[in-house]
Amino acid sequence: MSDRFVVVGGSLAGLRAAQAARRAGFRGPLTMIGGEAHLPYDRPPLSKDYLEPNERQPAAPTFRTEQALRDELDLDLRLNTWATGLHPAHTTLTVHGPYGEDELDYRYLVLATGAEARMLPGGEQLAGVHTLRTLDDAIAVRTALDNGARTVIVGAGFIGSEVASAARVRGLDVTVLEALPVPLVRSVGEAMGRACAALHHAHGTDLRCGVKVTDLESAGGRVTGVTLDEGSTIPAELVVVGAGVAPGTGWLTGSALRLHERDKGIVCDGTLSTGLPGVYAAGDVAHFPHPLFDGTLMRLEHWTNAAEQGALAAKNALNPDAAMPATAVPYFWSDWYGRRIQFVGIPRAEEIRVVSEELGEEKFLALYRGGDRITGCITIDRPAQVMKFRRMIAQSKTWDEALHFAGAR
Ligand SMILES: Cc1cc2nc3c(=O)[nH]c(=O)nc-3n(C[C@H](O)[C@H](O)[C@H](O)COP(=O)(O)OP(=O)(O)OC[C@H]3O[C@@H](n4cnc5c(N)ncnc54)[C@H](O)[C@@H]3O)c2cc1C
Repeated sequence: MSDRFVVVGGSLAGLRAAQAARRAGFRGPLTMIGGEAHLPYDRPPLSKDYLEPNERQPAAPTFRTEQALRDELDLDLRLNTWATGLHPAHTTLTVHGPYGEDELDYRYLVLATGAEARMLPGGEQLAGVHTLRTLDDAIAVRTALDNGARTVIVGAGFIGSEVASAARVRGLDVTVLEALPVPLVRSVGEAMGRACAALHHAHGTDLRCGVKVTDLESAGGRVTGVTLDEGSTIPAELVVVGAGVAPGTGWLTGSALRLHERDKGIVCDGTLSTGLPGVYAAGDVAHFPHPLFDGTLMRLEHWTNAAEQGALAAKNALNPDAAMPATAVPYFWSDWYGRRIQFVGIPRAEEIRVVSEELGEEKFLALYRGGDRITGCITIDRPAQVMKFRRMIAQSKTWDEALHFAGAR
């Protein structure tokens, strides 16, 4: 049997998996299959620093140089190469790259194929309409902002909101269209959603909630506007679609892997094992039961989760008898209008208590309760505090203890 360790997905979770495999002492052949042409790079800057108005386009936020990857990891790095089929019965993968199709055997396999952004129907064909998931997307969005594009964002999620912020920094007109009555209500609840909406309004972004996009207007193959169900059209030279993502598992349909019935993410156990020998998944693509939240199956789209799970999946694949569960408390951040929003835990809650709302300063702290425990915390511009609540969630502290700590009892 082959001794090869294969990582599919050349981004954060994939890179951390390859690094962890070497750190764990794996000395056999290590191959990374990356669909994009770029070296592994960091996505959060793409909707933040990368869009800032500088005269020159900033360097790509790559993690390591190609030479470093080969020297440090002795990595067989195959970029511009897509995995197209998984054959667990033969422990092989089919991949398609610049030189055609190839078959690779594996003994250990980490699936870290992340997620793909959802586009509006018809958007693919129109110049000026973009999602923001990849470096190439960011280059296109940045170029349009540099050209002073009248910007419409479809979806007031975190990434769309960051793009709105970047456009406002340049003084551009920005409209954000959101189907829900309050933005981000599913991710962070109503009170925090309203605080986020207030940030947009305070910075001159035209946020319109409870509206439905029905059409994209165009002339000569280029977008000219976005039409709403009530009939009006908002002029646009740049449309950024922030309509969520779908796990990158199209190539796994029909394999023996269990895919989630709702979104087709890969369903894993608590150690990130897919149940197939040697096959683990990590990052945005993976559903896993979280022991801190009654084993609720969750799929996170957070940077720290991808980094931690990539490393854990590799270690567990190499040593399944000593496999450790994924236990980290979920955490993400988002930067808009010079403010830092941070969330720890999960947003599903029986109660959300706004502990501090200083809208002048836009400082904000809210706690989330599940049963008699604290399950989440969100802050604006309170980085030290949010991490203290992260520790409290990790230690399963009670709601009373959390309120007391927050000075709300
Ligand atoms: C613009 C942007 C801003 C963000 N900002 C934040 C933030 O502020 N805070 C935060 O916590 N998180 C943020 N995130 C989320 C964070 O970046 C992701 O959670 C993280 O990138 C997930 O890493 P991943 O390796 O699991 O997947 P991905 O980064 O999606 O990488 C998967 C890789 O696999 C490749 N791939 C897919 N299918 C195949 C295949 N069949 N064969 C070969 N390769 C394949 C893809 O092309 C891709 O390169 C942001 C994401 C984006 C896009």
